[in-house]
Amino acid sequence: MLSVKNLSISFDTDEGRITPVRDVSFFVPQGKTLGIVGESGSGKSVSTKALMRLLPGNAKLSPESEILYRTKTGHELAIHSLKPSSRELGRLRGGEIGMIFQEPMASFSPVYSVGNQMMEAIRLHRGVGKGEARAIALDMLNRVGISNAAHRIDQYSHEMSGGMRQRAMIALALSAGPALLIADEPTTALDVTIQAQVLELMRELQQDLGMSMIFITHDLGVIAQIADEVAVMYLGTIVERGATRDVLRAPKHPYTQGLLKAIPSINTLQQRLNPVPGDIPSPSERPSGCPFHTRCPDAIAGVCDRKPPREIAVSQTSAVRCWLHDQDARNAA
Ligand code: SF4
Ligand code: MG
Repeated sequence: MLSVKNLSISFDTDEGRITPVRDVSFFVPQGKTLGIVGESGSGKSVSTKALMRLLPGNAKLSPESEILYRTKTGHELAIHSLKPSSRELGRLRGGEIGMIFQEPMASFSPVYSVGNQMMEAIRLHRGVGKGEARAIALDMLNRVGISNAAHRIDQYSHEMSGGMRQRAMIALALSAGPALLIADEPTTALDVTIQAQVLELMRELQQDLGMSMIFITHDLGVIAQIADEVAVMYLGTIVERGATRDVLRAPKHPYTQGLLKAIPSINTLQQRLNPVPGDIPSPSERPSGCPFHTRCPDAIAGVCDRKPPREIAVSQTSAVRCWLHDQDARNAA
């Protein structure tokens, strides 16, 4: 349904050109959830903004970048070559692909009620009349667990609590009936209990509606709850990817192993903010060789700091970029 190949994104800045996303490839299967995990600065938000061509004007995709999307009616769109202002993209953004963010206020207009905004999206994308649109909106609010929806539907987003607003934002994003939902840290600002509820709800809705989803987070614990497949990003590169259960059961990349060790146990529920020792370097000071070598406990001297590792398949469903798993290339060098 969505396939991304060799995506690289550069920005021209006052300090020169930076490339926060390098040679990223992934695939979102129909009706499944791909989780993208990484620290802030890993390029996960930038990568997914490219899918909707929502990057700022100074951003450039490399000529090899390819983003292909198959619409509900079976048309294949080469998103990478569409003009950012094109009609096809407008249609994709409004109807086919929904987006939700960490900050729900950004999704809502302050001058229309939540229900009005949902009904507008429903009428526009599902071609139904006012009465039916209201019924669908009500059903949607009920499904996301907003109690007393018949009253809430006429409220403004600022009249709602944070957790409720987050649910209303999900309902709004689902109103247009998207085939693909992109969720960028939508639960990060919520407390742990509400976060677990919202994740469960999103999982349910995704399965009920047969929707595909890309879920972006810095938290591998969230990935475990929601994603079928996972891609782990570090400094703009996918360092490991595969079926979530395989990657979590037997992580191959030292970075994934570090993230996994930092998942809080169910009993303590405490978040560690800096799971892997050291800070992620800025994209303008990208280390040579393997970008993780400055923090890697297993770095091989004279190898890891010299040449970037290639992606190696480690099973039918998973792949890793790490010299430890590429004995052949090390021997050949
Ligand atoms: Fe660590 Fe080397 Fe593997 Fe990079 S390539 S993750 S530095 S062992
Ligand atoms: Mg982000």
